[in-house]
Amino acid sequence: MPMQNMEIQQDSDSRPYWEGLAQGELRIQHCNACSRAVFYPRAFCPHCYAENLSWIVASGRGTIYSYTVAHQAFGAFAADVPFIVAIVELEEGVRMMSRIVDASRERVAIGANVQVTFEKVGEDLTLPYFRLIE
Ligand SMILES: [Zn+2]
Repeated sequence: MPMQNMEIQQDSDSRPYWEGLAQGELRIQHCNACSRAVFYPRAFCPHCYAENLSWIVASGRGTIYSYTVAHQAFGAFAADVPFIVAIVELEEGVRMMSRIVDASRERVAIGANVQVTFEKVGEDLTLPYFRLIE
């Protein structure tokens, strides 16, 4: 399935996230009750259960918390193998799964510094990937 045909489910909780990506912003939620960052998008804070969340633009900087190399993939990602899948911990304290792009496997390491980059992968779809920063 080509990426152009991939449909992403958006709802009122996640729409600001997807709209941010299209505009080159990595948006995450911020809890106004306990001041912690929240990701993935949701209706209430997973730390204190307050429903008082607002959106902030993340710095886009983080570190690799964990990673693996995908040698098999299905659907929209099958043509891209091998690629590096990582859990990135953002400066704001939340973790997100993404890809590390433009880096050889040998240079990727847990703890390495990364910066978000926005990849338009379909007509209406932009995804946040990460590049190593030296
Ligand atoms: Zn909270």
